Amino acid sequence: MEQNSARAAKDSAFEYLGRNENEIALLNDCIFYFGELGMQEHETSSLMCRLLEENGFDVIRNLSGFPTGFCATWGSDGPVIAVHTEYDANPDNSQMPGVSSPLAIVEGAPGHCEGHNANAAVMVAAALAAKAAMVKHGLPGRLKVFGAPAEEQLVSRPYFVRDGHFDDVDVAIAPHIGSQFGVGHGLIQSALISAYFTFHGESAHAGSAPWKGRDALDAVILMDVGMAEYREHMMPQSMCQRVITQGGDQPNVIPKRAQVWWYFRGPSADAAMSVFERAKKIAEGAALMTNTTVEVEVQSAVWPVRGNRTLAELVQKQFQEVGAPDWTSEEDALARELQERAGVKVEGLARDMALMKGPAVQKPSSNDAGDISWKTPMAKFYFPANIPNISFHHWAAGVALATPIAHKGVLAGARVLAASLIEIACNPQIVREAKLSFAEETAGVTWFSMLPAEQKPPLELNRAVMEKFRPLMQSHYPVRRPAFS
Ligand SMILES: [Zn+2]
Repeated sequence: MEQNSARAAKDSAFEYLGRNENEIALLNDCIFYFGELGMQEHETSSLMCRLLEENGFDVIRNLSGFPTGFCATWGSDGPVIAVHTEYDANPDNSQMPGVSSPLAIVEGAPGHCEGHNANAAVMVAAALAAKAAMVKHGLPGRLKVFGAPAEEQLVSRPYFVRDGHFDDVDVAIAPHIGSQFGVGHGLIQSALISAYFTFHGESAHAGSAPWKGRDALDAVILMDVGMAEYREHMMPQSMCQRVITQGGDQPNVIPKRAQVWWYFRGPSADAAMSVFERAKKIAEGAALMTNTTVEVEVQSAVWPVRGNRTLAELVQKQFQEVGAPDWTSEEDALARELQERAGVKVEGLARDMALMKGPAVQKPSSNDAGDISWKTPMAKFYFPANIPNISFHHWAAGVALATPIAHKGVLAGARVLAASLIEIACNPQIVREAKLSFAEETAGVTWFSMLPAEQKPPLELNRAVMEKFRPLMQSHYPVRRPAFS
């Protein structure tokens, strides 16, 4: 009986998605052209919130103090099913869609060269389709749709979890763009701590009285040397990277302030923490050597993403049902041309799906969804809306993102997500099994927030860059906005 109701409800959801196919593509394209950096996704989140609200969801904006974060809820009783994803772009990643050479829409502007625009379209479309089907078929369940700002800086979701927004969630699913359907269980990605180290010294004329100055840039450089020596002694799978964000203004002024932004990574929360603790000591040493002081500010801290086996198996089944998109020869030709231009293996678009990875091989990359995956059973799945073998953040990874390749991939991703939500609503044993397997998978580990208790969202992040480019980007926005029916 459960299977029959799931089948009929899935057909209703697929019918809804098919009927709104053009609007879903337009949603994907609008967010592509908005090209908004993390923490500044104002156009993007307000469009997503409006669509969810117009279609019966109660929307809480400014979630955990993130102006572009939100939680949209629909339904009252039954399992609490969360979906969450990111929608931020990257700096200097503006790329004209459909053009197989590097060509910015606006030179130097931010843009989507990974496909978080497609993530957002999949999440909204699937939530609306699942809700419509749940209403029509009288299915129990409460959907919570989370909009997560600034994934590229790994910021928002640890705050959402710290603030209790996932306390009532039974299971969670996160869609992410890829070049084929894929899902895994076990440890998928790594823990990360993002922190600014700001050194304070004293300025002086570098030519006439350098002995009166205390050079903050020297401290940044000495910290770098210390970290380079430490790298040899880190545990395997731990790593760290940095950029110098402030290094002084001009050579004849001793810099009184200098700053370096570090990412510390490890296979577990504890491993990332131990790299961070060591880095703080190295920074203190650098400050001591240069007679400066150091201030450490954590921007974010995330647990490694893990996939729950029960949910991964559920999503994998939906891949098989939905199938890979049916690409045309023109779409395939564009993919081959881009693969050729990017100097990677030329094999066109993916027509199969990845075998389920379990246990997955843990990648050194991170995602801010990590904390959620230790709080509640979670699946993170990839849908085929970009070109195989091309690295994210490369100009060629932006070309397909507002073309039929992305449109077909988003539709397929939304089908999988909507079908998964409906299966969970129809089959109470899925939640029960997911909770059992989750308890086994996380045995002996208790989640804690790695964020300092008083930590606030970094509201200024990317503001200046976005304010500079937004007026130039606005003339490229699509004229119409999507409306679902
Ligand atoms: Zn991403």
